Amino acid sequence: MPKIIIAIDGYSSCGKSTTAKAVAARMKYGYIDTGAMYRAVSLYFIQNHVSFSNSKEIAAALNDIHITFNFNPKTGRNETCLNGLNVEEEIRKMYISNYVSEVSTLVEVRRAMVAQQQKMGRRRGVVMDGRDIGTKVFPDAEVKVFMSADTGIRAARRQRELLEKGEMVPVEDIKANLEKRDLIDSTRAESPLSQAADAVPLDTTHMTIEEQVEWVVELADRRIAELYREGYFEGKR
Ligand code: C5P
Repeated sequence: MPKIIIAIDGYSSCGKSTTAKAVAARMKYGYIDTGAMYRAVSLYFIQNHVSFSNSKEIAAALNDIHITFNFNPKTGRNETCLNGLNVEEEIRKMYISNYVSEVSTLVEVRRAMVAQQQKMGRRRGVVMDGRDIGTKVFPDAEVKVFMSADTGIRAARRQRELLEKGEMVPVEDIKANLEKRDLIDSTRAESPLSQAADAVPLDTTHMTIEEQVEWVVELADRRIAELYREGYFEGKR
């Protein structure tokens, strides 16, 4: 059956990744967490003291960075690896969240990540979540969702996630981080976070993850049926 691309963009901590992962599993699609890629780049920059103002250093760093998603049989998940090392846990920590949006404004970083993401999705059959998937990475994605949610609710959800991993962060600090990241992400010059004209908005404030997954799967199913009727898949495999 021909496959499509499902792009899920939106603000931080709206449940994009959790929803995207579950939608991918339901549809037997691949899942690509583009935020994890920017987080892995951030970790490398911190560890190697890469200066934001030195384009030579940035270029050399990007040349040396290899990000892969490797299946971990212990957790049953695809986990982020940076140059062969599993960094899945490290990149979710608060110090990376406090740093990642600045790194993500760098033109060289964005170009390198976007090119890699386009390669990963070239055969379609992927659910990709991020900030610029429907606008920049795959403007031709067949399904585009734009997620938002109340900031207080997002901060509380994020605090629970961090607590489950053993990191206690005051909710005010998380709220400040989310607001700062949303502002930087929405106002940067290169592919800022914005809702694509053809994206369907989804406010997850009062929704459970299960409801979000169901909503996206139903939207995708309707779209696929519509594309069949329009003859979009003819000649495609
Ligand atoms: O999705 P997540 O919150 O893990 O993303 C971390 C950060 O990576 C975002 O706040 C944003 O600065 C950056 N990002 C981006 N473009 C993407 C995905 C993430 O700029 N496609």
